[in-house]
Amino acid sequence: MQPLRLGDTGGKPGAMTSGHEPSETPLGSLATRALTREAQRARQLLAAGKWRPTTADSTAAAAVLARLAAQLPPRRDAATRTLATDRDRRLQRILRTALHHLDAGAVSPPTAALLAAVARAFLPWHAAPAPPVAAAAPRYEPLAGRPGELAVPPTEAGDALLPSLIALFAMLASRSSTGPDPLTPPVEPWQVRYVGHFRRYGRPALGVWTAETVSCPACGRKAGPWTVACDWRQISLGCPCGVVTQDHGLAFSEVWLLLPDT
Ligand SMILES: [Zn+2]
Repeated sequence: MQPLRLGDTGGKPGAMTSGHEPSETPLGSLATRALTREAQRARQLLAAGKWRPTTADSTAAAAVLARLAAQLPPRRDAATRTLATDRDRRLQRILRTALHHLDAGAVSPPTAALLAAVARAFLPWHAAPAPPVAAAAPRYEPLAGRPGELAVPPTEAGDALLPSLIALFAMLASRSSTGPDPLTPPVEPWQVRYVGHFRRYGRPALGVWTAETVSCPACGRKAGPWTVACDWRQISLGCPCGVVTQDHGLAFSEVWLLLPDT
């Protein structure tokens, strides 16, 4: 994937973490604007009974909740460095689990939007503490214009997101299978223009990845500029030749960084 501008650098942590105000954490280096918006929206919809998650939503939320609330391994006399690595590993598992369920194709659009926002916020842990093992696995570039920033992920800022996310995902995960029928609120579709290549990733086996560049089915163009539209059910790619295709095989995690961060 090409280097992408992530947008938000000055997300306001207070809105996201009501009830838990991290006063000294440098959240400025995390892209939390989408997360703030989606989490707030989800909380309001759930509280008002306007969103009753599907079983797939709750299952995905429970899996992410387990990562969010994971205890750090007990270590006696561990070095500060080891403890920091444990915390980063926990944050990395949150990102990977969110992406896994985002791409599994089972969750409803509001859950997909929320998972994508979680993944964006935890992007600095994509390759930290451990990079993806397979050579062809997706690799995301650091924030454009901020070289080196992701060399050391902001562990404090990542940890500061956990309490409010645990509360939210507990709400999402707690839907009873004997409760009323699911009710899925609409999500706002988004559209962006993107110049560059899209890589379609496959995972034929555990730890094995394949990657292929997407091309227009009509003219074969690969570099765009693409008109990308997404409603968290489907992604469509518009080519300059006029063809719009949904038959590109891209997963949400291949367009999630294009999400407008407003
Ligand atoms: Zn074309």
